[in-house]
Amino acid sequence: PELSRVGVMLVTSKAERDLKIEGLELGADDYVTMPFHPRELLARTRALIRTRVLSQQLEERGDSLARALAELGETQAQLVHREKMASLGQFVAGIAHELNNPLNFVQGNLHFLARHARSMLEAIARYEEMMRELGADTSRIDATRAELRLDDVGEDLDSLLEGCTEGIVRSTTLVADLKSFSRLDRPDASMANLLDGLRSTLSVLRDRLRGIDVQLELEELPLVECIAGQVNQVFMNLISNAADAVGESGVIRIRSGQVDDDHVFVEIEDDGCGIEPENLERLFEPFFTTKDVGHGTGLGLSISYGVISRHGGQLIVRSEPGEGAVFRVELPTRSSEERREALARGDVPAGLEDPVER
Ligand code: ADP
Repeated sequence: PELSRVGVMLVTSKAERDLKIEGLELGADDYVTMPFHPRELLARTRALIRTRVLSQQLEERGDSLARALAELGETQAQLVHREKMASLGQFVAGIAHELNNPLNFVQGNLHFLARHARSMLEAIARYEEMMRELGADTSRIDATRAELRLDDVGEDLDSLLEGCTEGIVRSTTLVADLKSFSRLDRPDASMANLLDGLRSTLSVLRDRLRGIDVQLELEELPLVECIAGQVNQVFMNLISNAADAVGESGVIRIRSGQVDDDHVFVEIEDDGCGIEPENLERLFEPFFTTKDVGHGTGLGLSISYGVISRHGGQLIVRSEPGEGAVFRVELPTRSSEERREALARGDVPAGLEDPVER
């Protein structure tokens, strides 16, 4: 292979046609038979070198074309991804908006509804008591109470109310997720200490992480210009996913450090179930989840991806099935003017890296 680019010219006294053909078929580029004039040999050598150089140039051109084609494919995939995210963003913003008002309405009314129902039960009880005090015959009242199972209503009311409240809380959390996915909430960026955010996220998740060995290998970081609430939400999503992946017990390692003078990283590694290759491709799609209904919305990673790319950073995943997963967030410490504006508008910037590390 090292010699494949060297031109070969057979210079020989064997002039028969068959031998010539055999020589050329064996890979010779030219065949000169004796006797020859030295100028002919020179001319043929020059021609041979010229074709070699040309073919080399052609090969290089082919390589750079192939590279350009690959880049084009990647850009196209990113554009499609961006379009998909943008139209989904609009769709989701609409749903979040429509759901928000009725949910607030139900949440507000639920409280009064329960209070009114309790007042009515109380009024009935007092009325019955009064009748007894007056020495009235209460047998019909008692029969009605038994028929309507009024004694159970008070107890039922509490558990019904608890169920409704739980449903409402789940729905409002979902709407909050949808709103942040569609970037309806956009506070300003400021200089933040990511490790403070990480630590407070861990303390919020304390109950969730019980039984899991959380190992911190944190290197102090410079302040990072970001929307701290959004970046914390990313940590929250990644750590809760890691907790889901390891189950009751397992190890989650959280590392931080500097990539270079202007970039920091936070890495969350778990030794959980890992991710199947076919799921890896779809991980960052909104609503992609492998969790049971009620346990996953499939929004966590798509929100996280949007947040980190709007900050000019990268969210990269590495995983083999059965061997855990590593999610790595890289962020620039300083925003450019352009990025600051994009962040304020909520744009997804161009040139996103493919988040899946193969
Ligand atoms: P959700 O957690 O609601 O399902 P996400 O967008 O956060 O939504 O995650 C999408 C899917 O990615 C999860 O359902 C899960 O299959 C997979 N996933 C995310 N993080 C991990 C992890 N650390 N280990 C294994 N699978 C993961």
